[in-house]
Amino acid sequence: MASEAAGQARLDMITHLIADSMGTEVCSVYLFRDEDTLELCATEGLKPEAVHKTRMRLGEGLVGRVARTGSAVNTPNAPAEPNFRYMPETGEERYSSFLGIPIQRLGQVLGVLVVQSRDARTYSADEVYGLEVVAMVIAEMTELGAFVGEEKALARLHQQSVMIKGTAAQEGAAEGHVWLHEPRVVVTNPVAEDPTRETERLHTAVERLRGDVDRMLEMAGTTDKDHRQVLETYRMFANSKGWIRRMEGDISRGLSAEAAVEKEQSEARTRMMRVADAYLRERLSDLDDLSNRLLRLLTGQGQATGAEMPGDPILIARNIGPGELLEYGRTLRGIVLEDGSVGSHAAVIARALAIPLIVHAERITTEALNGDHILVDGDRGAAHLRPDETVATAFRDKIAMQAQAQKRYSSIRHEPAVTRDGQRVTLMMNAGLMADLPSLDSSGAEGVGLFRTELQFLVRNQMPRRSELSALYARVLESAGGKRVVFRTLDIGSDKVLPYMKATDEPNPALGWRAIRVGLDKPGVLRMQLQALLRAAAGGPLTIMFPFVAQFEEYRAAKAEVDKAIEREKILGHPLPSSLEVGAMLETPSLAFAPQKFFDEVGFLSIGGNDLKQFFFAADRENERVRRRYDTLNVSFLGILEQIVRRCEESDTPLSFCGEDAGRPLEALCLAAIGLRTLSMRPASIGPVKSLLLRSDLGQVADIIAEARETGEQSVRPAILKYLRDTD
Ligand code: PEP
Ligand code: MG
Repeated sequence: MASEAAGQARLDMITHLIADSMGTEVCSVYLFRDEDTLELCATEGLKPEAVHKTRMRLGEGLVGRVARTGSAVNTPNAPAEPNFRYMPETGEERYSSFLGIPIQRLGQVLGVLVVQSRDARTYSADEVYGLEVVAMVIAEMTELGAFVGEEKALARLHQQSVMIKGTAAQEGAAEGHVWLHEPRVVVTNPVAEDPTRETERLHTAVERLRGDVDRMLEMAGTTDKDHRQVLETYRMFANSKGWIRRMEGDISRGLSAEAAVEKEQSEARTRMMRVADAYLRERLSDLDDLSNRLLRLLTGQGQATGAEMPGDPILIARNIGPGELLEYGRTLRGIVLEDGSVGSHAAVIARALAIPLIVHAERITTEALNGDHILVDGDRGAAHLRPDETVATAFRDKIAMQAQAQKRYSSIRHEPAVTRDGQRVTLMMNAGLMADLPSLDSSGAEGVGLFRTELQFLVRNQMPRRSELSALYARVLESAGGKRVVFRTLDIGSDKVLPYMKATDEPNPALGWRAIRVGLDKPGVLRMQLQALLRAAAGGPLTIMFPFVAQFEEYRAAKAEVDKAIEREKILGHPLPSSLEVGAMLETPSLAFAPQKFFDEVGFLSIGGNDLKQFFFAADRENERVRRRYDTLNVSFLGILEQIVRRCEESDTPLSFCGEDAGRPLEALCLAAIGLRTLSMRPASIGPVKSLLLRSDLGQVADIIAEARETGEQSVRPAILKYLRDTD
């Protein structure tokens, strides 16, 4: 296998050698031609004319079965097997026994290696094992392009264009080049001549790995139970005799130490894809991670591969922490994660930085290579890796259209949002990082309607100090240059768990101990934050908002904390804010039914539509299955919003809306029509929303909503869409 022959000649030689040494009449290699077609690429024993002619679909015939299941088929009587497919062009009816082994690398099936013989024999465990090792080497060589040839099925892996579908987590389109957060180790020497030396190399690397894991455990201390648990699993695997023994066995059959590690890793991955049990999957993924560490130790390849980050990087990773992501910051054009989730911290940051993000992009970390050309379609949740020109051109057109629209928006950025019937709507932006502030000017936002303060807490490994927070808030106020900034106090819990706070195990975190509930039960952090805010205001105006208030009493208690903090500042002789507004988010239906006195007392209200909607419909905002089931423009939901508007009007309570829906033009139009005249959204949404408002008549929209309700429609969306089409 180590010979220098050209692609096809090599494969021919391999099949010849295997048939010869195993004493079988046939040995064939099938490789994928495209996603679901396998092609006979080399054979010893079948008719040579069938090579590159015989094809089968994934799952078809015994070969297709091996490819689909990723596991071997070993039978003395192939024609009796349910999947058997007779292929006259190969002359195979004469063969009775069949052993098919998947050719796979890192859990991805690349093809099938088959031996067949006339007599009805069952291949021994040793033969199966031996063939598995050969299949592994063929997989490595395929990866390295050893079989590159004219034929498409022999084309080098990682050269074909693929479309990987994931879940959209942040919209936008981006074109760039792959930057692997953790570059994959490339095994360049799958076969080795000297098993004794390879075994030694393996043992040395495993020793170092054990040392590393022990050190990590020491450093982890005793506080973080989850982290320790993962490391304990690492230690268990690193000391697993079975794992080491299997790798030694692979080496004794001619694999290099790194190829042996990869073979075991590959098998673990295949198993991982088949287990449904979440706990087991986690453990197998720990083993996967450990194998990567071992590979890095063996090859000396690591983070610093010497590769240069492309000028237009699209970050590819299995997962990434918020801190790491912030380090990359706005240099990234797009992000594609193999795992991740819409509500993960990384997603929160990506959204704050307005970087298109796709999560759940299966196989992206194994498919993509550093420097590969890639298109990220954050609207559809699709990544086009190594796209062909037609796809790239269509994609560029889309980006150009978006850019053109942005230009149009920029021309109206300083215009107030006044509708055709003369209604004024105030458009503010949501923010969470210092880096968001420049958008105030570029988007034309009239202020920051929601400053999510949790990001500063999420991205650190320890609780930020009061002085740090105060300095940051002061900078935010300074950059806002007198425009209103609504600081929302810490909203943690649920999906937003601080790395340095003890995680509580709750059956329903979204309904659990979160936001103001934590703030009031453990007021230390809330007090520290309030003090930081008061000091940041430095005698200027200040606006504070409490998240997730579910009943009047919570607001009162939180407001009392503000009053106490002011008293303290007064005693210390610090300047007090020139004006202070204190309000609450309305995110639970209960608050819409609070006593009138609450509406009289609260300084202002802002509807957190993301949470309000999930509780109103009892549909988890992070659960893809139910998330989109209920339309924001559902008449019942608009009904509760109208009720809130009415109650606020009656008590003269300023009201705004700051959930994601405020940034969707159609939704924003309806919200404005039912009386929500202050909307806060992502900066990039201000242009599109304003542009629609400018050419709309809110009175007419309100009439359509009323009419849809009369006729018993479930959602007003179709009627509004029709109205917009008719008036355009
Ligand atoms: C909301 O719930 O609508 C909201 C703005 O808060 P968050 O998305 O941070 O929960
Ligand atoms: Mg919320």
